[in-house]
Amino acid sequence: MTMRELAHMVAMMPPNFPGAACIREPQAFDPRGRGEGHGRRVCPRHVYAKDLCALCPHLSPCREWALHYHADYPKESGPVIGGLTDQERIDTRRRLRITVKVAA
Ligand code: SF4
Repeated sequence: MTMRELAHMVAMMPPNFPGAACIREPQAFDPRGRGEGHGRRVCPRHVYAKDLCALCPHLSPCREWALHYHADYPKESGPVIGGLTDQERIDTRRRLRITVKVAA
């Protein structure tokens, strides 16, 4: 593995945010399961996760990381990260013209 590949892998890993709610209650943030809806509809569990993110002291750097490094796919369910659902991250990237940095 080259240094460039190693640096890229580190950047791809979620940052460690001590004391964050997503560490205490990870199940609230998990991708939607069967019957929890899809697309732009936000399920009650993710509404709760978004509320926890809104109170998180790490919200800003977490959201920045999620927008730049967490790949979301339109037809798959993703987790809540940085106060945003998968679809909200996709919409935000499109609006701000952000490209996710993924390994080549
Ligand atoms: S903003 Fe949300 S996802 Fe990010 S560290 Fe805080 S609780 Fe976790």
